[in-house]
Formats: sequence, C-alpha cells, structure tokens
Amino acid sequence: MSALAASTSLAADVPTTKILYINSYHRGYSWSDGLEDGLREALEASGRKFEISVEYLDSRRFAYNSLVEPLAKSMEVKYASYRPDLVVVSDNAAFDFALQFRDRLFPGKPIVFCGYNDFRPEVLDGIQDVTGVNEEIDVTGAVEMAIKVHPKTRALAFIVSTGEASSSRIGEMAERDVFPKLRDRFEVVVMKDLSITELSERLAKLPPETLLFLCGQVRDVGAGRALSPSENGRLITSVSPFPTYTFWDFHLNQGVIGGHIITGPDQGRAAADLALRVLSGTPAGQIPVIMTTPHANVFDYEVLEKFGVSESRLPPNARVINRPHSLWTQYRIQIIGVVVLMTLETILIAVLLRMMRERRLALQELSKERELLEHRVEERTSELKIANDQLAELSLKDALTGLANRRRLDEALEVEFRRLHRSGKPLSLIMLDVDHFKNFNDAHGHVAGDECLRRIGTLIGGMVCRSPDLAARYGGEEFAIILPETGSQGAAGMAERIRKAVEDLRIEHADSPVAGWVTVSLGVTTVFPSRMDSALEVVTRADGELYNAKSAGRNRVSTLYCETTN
Ligand code: GH3
Ligand code: MG
Ligand code: MG
Repeated sequence: MSALAASTSLAADVPTTKILYINSYHRGYSWSDGLEDGLREALEASGRKFEISVEYLDSRRFAYNSLVEPLAKSMEVKYASYRPDLVVVSDNAAFDFALQFRDRLFPGKPIVFCGYNDFRPEVLDGIQDVTGVNEEIDVTGAVEMAIKVHPKTRALAFIVSTGEASSSRIGEMAERDVFPKLRDRFEVVVMKDLSITELSERLAKLPPETLLFLCGQVRDVGAGRALSPSENGRLITSVSPFPTYTFWDFHLNQGVIGGHIITGPDQGRAAADLALRVLSGTPAGQIPVIMTTPHANVFDYEVLEKFGVSESRLPPNARVINRPHSLWTQYRIQIIGVVVLMTLETILIAVLLRMMRERRLALQELSKERELLEHRVEERTSELKIANDQLAELSLKDALTGLANRRRLDEALEVEFRRLHRSGKPLSLIMLDVDHFKNFNDAHGHVAGDECLRRIGTLIGGMVCRSPDLAARYGGEEFAIILPETGSQGAAGMAERIRKAVEDLRIEHADSPVAGWVTVSLGVTTVFPSRMDSALEVVTRADGELYNAKSAGRNRVSTLYCETTN
C-alpha cells in the first residue's frame, strides 16, 4: 500500500460531515441565534465531526423577495462543487427557499427544517427526504397558566397580525380553537394589525384586570424596515398597562412578564436529533415531523416586581430570570473571608485578653507572695536582731549581779585607754574585793554568798551611773570600776563612798575578823594613758593597791596617788 493510500484511509477513519445550515434571519436575532446554538451544541455532543456552512437569508432586515433569486444564484456558484451531506433550515423563509432551490443547489440532499410555524402534511406532498420540527405554540396552556398566576383576571387581550403567513395562521388558529372557550369566562379582545397608537388607545379602555398576549405584532412603524419580533415586543410592553405574556423566548427581556414558551435552543436540539438520525442512515422521509417541542414556564423578576406578582403564585416548575444577585451570591467569597478573618481575630483577641488576665493575676499573686516573704524576712530579721542584741548583752553582762562582765570591762578599758591616750586626760581604776568571803560562804552557805554578791553589785551599779564610768564584776567576789577622765582624789572619794555604803548594808558576816558584817577592800589607781604603754599596767597597779588595802587590815581604801592636774 502506498503512503498516499494509507493517509487517505486514515482520513476516512474520521469522516467529516458537511452540513449546510440556512438561517432565515441574521446573526444577532435572539430566536434564530438560540436555535443555531441548540443545534450546534447537540451536534457536537454526538461525537461526530461536522463542517457547518452557514447562510443567512436576512429576510427581516432587507427586501428578501427581490433578493431571493440573486441569493440562490450566489449559492449556486458557491456550492457548485461543494456538496453538503445534509441541509438544515431554520424558520419559514429558509425552508421555503430550500424547497424552491433544492434541485439547483443541493439536489437529492436530505433537508431537516426547524422553527417553521406553518407546517401541514400537505407541505411535503411530492417532496422526498424531508423531516423537521414544527414550531407549535400552546396558546391554551399559556392562557390557563397565566390565569392561575393572576386569579382576578377579567379580560384577555390578544395581539394578532396577518402581515405574514405564520402570524396570521396563529391568529386564525386561536380564533378558531381557543377564544370561543375563553369567552365563556372572560372578556376576550382580539386586536388585529393595529398600529402602536391604536393599540395604546384600545388598551386604555380595558379593565385593570386585563392580561395581554403577544400572538402577533403591531403594524410596522417608521425606521424603513420591519421591526424584529423582539423589537416589536419591546414597543408593545412599553405602552401596555397590563402584564404582557409571550409564547416565545425572543420576547424575554423586552418587558414581558413571562409565559408558557417555546425556545430556540429546544428547537435547535430537536432538529439536531433528527439530523443525526438521517446521517445514521434513516431516510428523512421515514422520520415523522415533530409537531411540538417542550414548553417552559419562564418569568422576568423585574416585571413580576413591577406588577406586584408574588413568586409564590407561579407554577412550581417556573424559572425566574433577571433575579438580582443578592449580596451573598455576589460577594460570597469575600464575605466568608471577612467572617473567617474576624472570627480568627476575635479568637486571638480573646486568647490575648485571657493571657493578659492570667498574667495580671499571676503578677498579683507574685506580689502578694513577695510582700509576705518580705514581711517574714523583716520579722525574722527583727527577731534575729533582738536575739543578737540579747546575745550581745548576755555576752557582755554578768548574770549574777547584772553588772558588766570581765570581757566588757577589758574592752571598755582598752577603748578608754586609747581615747585618753590621745586626749592626754587621766584614767582611774578601782579594784574591789570582798573581805574574808571564803569564810562567809563557809558560815552562811553559797546561796547567801551569791545573794551577798548580788546586793553589793546592785549597790555599786547604783553608785556608778555617770557616763562613761563603768562598774563590772571582775571575777569571783571582785569588782572593778573604770572612771575615765577622773583624777586620784575623785577616784579615791568614790572608792571610799562605796566602801562605806557596803559596810552600811550591814550584811551579817559570822566569821569575819574585821567586823560582824561584810566589808570590802579597795585599791585605787589613777594614770595618764598618754604616758603608758598598755591598759594592763593600770589593772596591775590597781591590783597592787588592793593588795595593800588587804595587807593594811582590810575594810579600807588604798590609793596610789599620781601627779595630776585634777
Ligand atoms: P581575803 O579577805 O584575803 O580576800 O579572804 P577571802 O576568803 O575573801 O579570799 P579567798 O581568795 O581565799 O576566797 C575567796 C572566796 O570567794 C572563795 C570562793 O569560794 C568565794 N567566791 C568566789 N566567787 C564566788 C561566788 O560567785 N559566790 C560565792 N558564794 N562565793 C564565791
Ligand atoms: Mg579575792
Ligand atoms: Mg576576798
């Protein structure tokens, strides 16, 4: 097999069906546009491959009758060697044209018609291979539906026209089959071939409960050409004070309220079904003509509103067009977005507020805890201070007599020695020892001995009260008194007063060779620290004087006078 033959057989695998589509009107006319769209859609859905040549007869805009022959001539040239497999024609003019010129343009090719509204079986007498879809309107069904929507209706007005065969046929059919039945129940007004002005005047005389039906058109007005059916509809609805009903989809959006209508796309789809059957091999002549296509109940939202008709009165299967988009349908995504964002924001704010509240509470707790802690620390500190003070006092105090102890005496002596060493002033020290105290203990017992020492201590403490004088228990039954800045005579005077005061206590001493009561001996020394090396020397000297007092017979004061200015 040659390469050329192979490619030819490959092309034959995907055959392209050639369709000649003749449109009675022009592109831009909603009825025939819808019809063509429905046809193309259904053909494409079949999965076959089509090449569709479209011819527009433009029979409404131009003087079709005088153009028909030149049009045929032109197409004869065009289709001389290009033969379609099938011819589809839409609306009356195209069907008439196809039948008239079939033998010249596409001899023997099957024809499928649609949108043709004047079909009678005799149309096909002697004609082979033709089938199609009749455009049959259901006037009775349309009127009954409209009356249900407007239950108070009193009058029904029908616009009919006889300008072209199709229009007059509808009028005749309605006059014959529909109006007589309606006249029993309603005032039926038929307005035939009126001008728009006449129509307007006639409508003004009808009762308010009137419905207007567009079965035909008003007479041509100006403009140099026939108005298209949809333009005609717009003109009529603009003067009609009543709801205006239609039977075709091309009147929609022209001010009609709606209707029980047939649509161009339905016609086109039905024609495509017939075409596919023909192309599948069924001779067109054997396929019966479809006399009526499905009707749809369609209403215009804006006109319903204008006449105050509630949607609840419409038939259940009614479709409402021109319904304004609600904000929700228009901005659904934006609204959802904003709501989601606001929700998230609210949640975040709530979480944040909760965290802030928890933080504030935690800080309050913490602050309370800290105050408590500070309070406890303060308490403990002051307790500790008291304890420390007590300890310090205890460590420097003699427990029995309440006077300063030996440690305190040594410290004070050292401090005063140094101070007076700098100032050059004198320092006196009195050492006191209870006479024959061993005997006292032996004679009166230790408890009495302690009591005796306590009384002597209290006495000395009472007499040495000038600051910075200091009386201390030196140890055992010995006492010492520091008298800073005190000269020999002053110190000796003080010592003597103490000796006398102890004697005056008259504490019984049963075994004293000196007296029948307790006596004391005192050694006094006065020095200038500035001329000495250490405080220890002062004690040694005072101790020496005490020894002298003892030796001299006890119960006396021995003073080592030194040179002084005092
Ligand atoms: P002198 O006149 O020579 O000082 O004779 P004395 O007996 O007082 O001297 P000695 O040093 O021989 O005895 C001192 C006594 O003082 C011995 C001791 O039992 C007594 N003594 C020392 N401290 C205390 C004390 O705190 N309480 C009592 N009850 N007696 C004490
Ligand atoms: Mg002693
Ligand atoms: Mg003694």
